[in-house]
Amino acid sequence: MDLPETVPLSGISPEATGNEYLILATKALRRHLGLAETPGEKSSSSPPSTQPLFWVEVVPPSARGARCQLDCPKNIMPGEYRIAVNPGQHGHYGNRSSDYYHVHCFEKIADFSQADFLDRVQPLTRNLTRLRNLESSSFLDGNYLLDAGAERLSLEWKVTVGGLIDKRDGVESETMDSRHSAFNDLLRKSGSSNYIPQMVPGMSEFEFILLSCTLAPIEGDGSGDSEEWNLFEEYLAVADNHEEDLNNRHSLSETLEAWGHDVVLATSDNLTEKGKKQKEGLSSKAIRAIKRLAVTPMPDIQGAFLRGL
Ligand SMILES: [Zn+2]
Repeated sequence: MDLPETVPLSGISPEATGNEYLILATKALRRHLGLAETPGEKSSSSPPSTQPLFWVEVVPPSARGARCQLDCPKNIMPGEYRIAVNPGQHGHYGNRSSDYYHVHCFEKIADFSQADFLDRVQPLTRNLTRLRNLESSSFLDGNYLLDAGAERLSLEWKVTVGGLIDKRDGVESETMDSRHSAFNDLLRKSGSSNYIPQMVPGMSEFEFILLSCTLAPIEGDGSGDSEEWNLFEEYLAVADNHEEDLNNRHSLSETLEAWGHDVVLATSDNLTEKGKKQKEGLSSKAIRAIKRLAVTPMPDIQGAFLRGL
């Protein structure tokens, strides 16, 4: 269950409005991360003892959802994607305290075209639950965890934006060894009829099967299909070699909103007339792929038990 969050952002006058409020909220977030309030200046505060992470996660079931820390009139409702900054700025509950934001709202104060912010983004998946500072039982029903499509999209978004930052800053990209190359192929080519998944050294069989089936980004109609469906091409709002995409502050929320919208179209039995019309724009291949990627991959509880974790 979410911890109660009813306190406003620390250090911000309740009278602050509009742009002024955003500027203050941006500075408060930068201070929380141990950064100078203004980019380029030297930070006078000491780095936090625990580095806050920006979790991309799903709001768990509750009656009213969670309050958005950006003084937003709308709560973040169960089933929606959100950002949880953990530990949060208040610390009433130690490291368990988190600040919640709509993804779109958080992008107004966090500049993901800067590595200081991008590096802290962590899509919440089955493999990272122990870092989220919640009771392990919280995740047993798949609560908080991203569905397969959102997991692949948010991770690919992070890698793509990181590559664009390196390019902008003139950082040489590392050359891939064979293990990285096999992993890269598994991540990006799974599901294609032109690719046979290869086990990556050091990876569990559980994870290999998930990545090559449930989480595969490509959906095709078998050999000879020249128009395979590709998750990243359909929904990712950033692309390699499009350095100008760094100027789009809302590329993560645009990606997740477009994906979430089509998940509803593909899986709901209760569409409005407008929704039914929009669904006609999705091919049967796309609907098949979206339904597959709409599930939430669960932690490998049996494997963890056998390993004595
Ligand atoms: Zn909001």
